[in-house]
Amino acid sequence: MLRPNSTIGILGGGQLGRMLALAAARLGFKCHVFAPSPDSPAFEVVQRVTCADYADNSALDRFAEDVDVITFEFENVPAPTATFLSARKPVLPDPQILATTQDRLTEKNFVTGLGIATARYAQVSSQQDLALALGTIGRPAVLKTRRFGYDGKGQISIGEGSDHAAVWRAIGEQPAILEAFVAFEREVSIVAARGREGRIECFDLIENEHRDHILKLSRVPANVSKSVADEAKRIAEIIAAAFNYVGVFAVEMFVLRQDGGLLVNEIAPRVHNSGHWTLDGATVSQFEQHVRAVAGWPLVKPLRRGKIEMVNLIGSEVEDFAKWLSVEGASLHLYGKATVRPGRKMGHVTRVMPEGESKA
Ligand code: AMP
Repeated sequence: MLRPNSTIGILGGGQLGRMLALAAARLGFKCHVFAPSPDSPAFEVVQRVTCADYADNSALDRFAEDVDVITFEFENVPAPTATFLSARKPVLPDPQILATTQDRLTEKNFVTGLGIATARYAQVSSQQDLALALGTIGRPAVLKTRRFGYDGKGQISIGEGSDHAAVWRAIGEQPAILEAFVAFEREVSIVAARGREGRIECFDLIENEHRDHILKLSRVPANVSKSVADEAKRIAEIIAAAFNYVGVFAVEMFVLRQDGGLLVNEIAPRVHNSGHWTLDGATVSQFEQHVRAVAGWPLVKPLRRGKIEMVNLIGSEVEDFAKWLSVEGASLHLYGKATVRPGRKMGHVTRVMPEGESKA
């Protein structure tokens, strides 16, 4: 168990790292953030930073020397970086989890190997593979690059009329998987934490709406039956135990229109955008649970403070930030990013409404 005043190293300097560092500070920890970009939002809230490439071993060495435990805020930490660091200090969650979740094919194989359902999928390594896979999976379908896909990047929908050769070129002729298109009723995610001693605490199931493949709105609790919510928790528990996970993770799922069945879409081995509501809407946030877990502190059961809505401020939407300051029940979070770009997550707003009341 880390003592207060110990130092937590965070790989990655985005808003997730920033909110982790703020939660760590509240518990009396110090953070050292390692990120390659000089204008990393997390740099603004900590005193110790390393601005260097993830392949810079001498910078990594000094970083490891300065911290007591290392965690990360993004899943694409290069494998050699994680290996280099874990030889020096504990890295949590275990970097072997990154290897599984960085590749959509190994991730889906892992999930289905646990007896958990996903959309039907097939490996695609060539144009011929794609033609064959379309034969077995059918149309409509979605072709996704195996690596480095997020917020809909590296993803192409294939309808009845699409020419598979053109799609293969458009995806960049990269290793991919073809997934059956899921006619879902809604998208949900479960955000959960597992402590060093194996205790798991789940936040309530979250319902998510995307716009242009980017998360726009989360609502809690999700509008699903108790049995669907319980099943989502069971899935999270199975995944966490199989990974011997330490820290916070999210599992994104589709709720099927026909029978309310759940299909796992993706595992995020980190704190997650759909869990930002916990900062204002729960008695413990996802960021604090993560800090507790990696510090070897006990987790606590989160209690929800009401009905919650979380809205992402994307791109130029942030320019209207002031309007939220006078909305009752609303809490504004800005990430301090200097440059506004279309599609860039600039901040979010949480609205907490007493259970039973609806938004005015
Ligand atoms: P992903 O990058 O896999 O998280 O996908 C981003 C978004 O694309 C998801 O949140 C869904 O809205 C949509 N999507 C991804 N895969 C599928 C699928 N197999 N069927 C239907 N929609 C999908």
